[in-house]
Amino acid sequence: MPAIPSIELNDGRSIPQLGFGVFQIPPAETAEAVAHALRVGYRHIDTAEMYGNEREVGEAVRASGIDRAEVWVTSKLNNGFHEPGAARRAFDGTLAALGFDYVDLFLIHWPLPTLYDGDYVSTWKTLEELKADGRARSIGVSNFQVDHLQRLMDECDVVPAVNQIELHPYLQNRDVRDFDEDNGIATEAWSPIAQGAVLDDAAIRAIAEETGRSAAQVVLRWHVQHDNIVFPKSTTPERIEENFRIFDFELSEEQVEEIDALDRGEDGRTGPHPERFAYVP
Ligand code: NDP
Repeated sequence: MPAIPSIELNDGRSIPQLGFGVFQIPPAETAEAVAHALRVGYRHIDTAEMYGNEREVGEAVRASGIDRAEVWVTSKLNNGFHEPGAARRAFDGTLAALGFDYVDLFLIHWPLPTLYDGDYVSTWKTLEELKADGRARSIGVSNFQVDHLQRLMDECDVVPAVNQIELHPYLQNRDVRDFDEDNGIATEAWSPIAQGAVLDDAAIRAIAEETGRSAAQVVLRWHVQHDNIVFPKSTTPERIEENFRIFDFELSEEQVEEIDALDRGEDGRTGPHPERFAYVP
């Protein structure tokens, strides 16, 4: 099995390009799903306080017997906790739930520009503190748009290591993706297979036929060749295995371009728009 490549972040650390996402996995099923992913070879788990399963992720990592240092774990600040004091307490809660003394990567989950007087800057400065004290080894953001990123770069010291955004063949999010790239911010693609919505696409199915791979493998491979970081979610053991086998084949330039041409812009978006999203649990 070929090794999982790493992406070097702007803080000098290296993140495995393929991980395992646990959004919408019920807590009772999370430990088994993560345990299976770790057995298959995944060494990167993407969770969040909002998902309600940090505890089970931590349990599965510990139960695996794999050295903590060998598993990259990302979590995210929930929307109700952007104010600095609340953010510090929420971070303590994340570490307690995971049962870890650090996370590899901590993200502001959503920018919430219509809440908190549009102040995600003080939130980011709080994450800078968590990085300085070593408990968040890398820090980043999620769902940040170009104007949000620009503001952090103008008003803060640390450039986010990653920006985790909705990105798949139907929503290629090129303006944000390009801004990330131009500014040394790695792009993490959430819902990399659009929760399955791209898998019946005729062009993708044709490439699957040509390569003898599944549609999901083709789409994940397309992300990899664009240097995106991905963490597909599945609770199906065979799919967890299938999604891991994407480093032993390559798409041709023409095949990559055929998938590039599937972008539907805003019509392809499946989740909420980050400029308007204001959900606080
Ligand atoms: P994905 O694009 O990963 O799709 C998951 C869905 O696809 C599930 O229904 C799964 O079904 C199915 N699936 C997985 N693999 C295959 C396969 N090989 N063939 C066919 N179907 C398959 O969606 P997510 O929204 O879960 O995104 C991935 C991760 O991104 C999340 O888990 C989370 O970590 C992160 N995320 C972050 C967000 C943010 O705001 N920062 C928002 C949304 C996601 P089944 O489980 O039944 O096998």
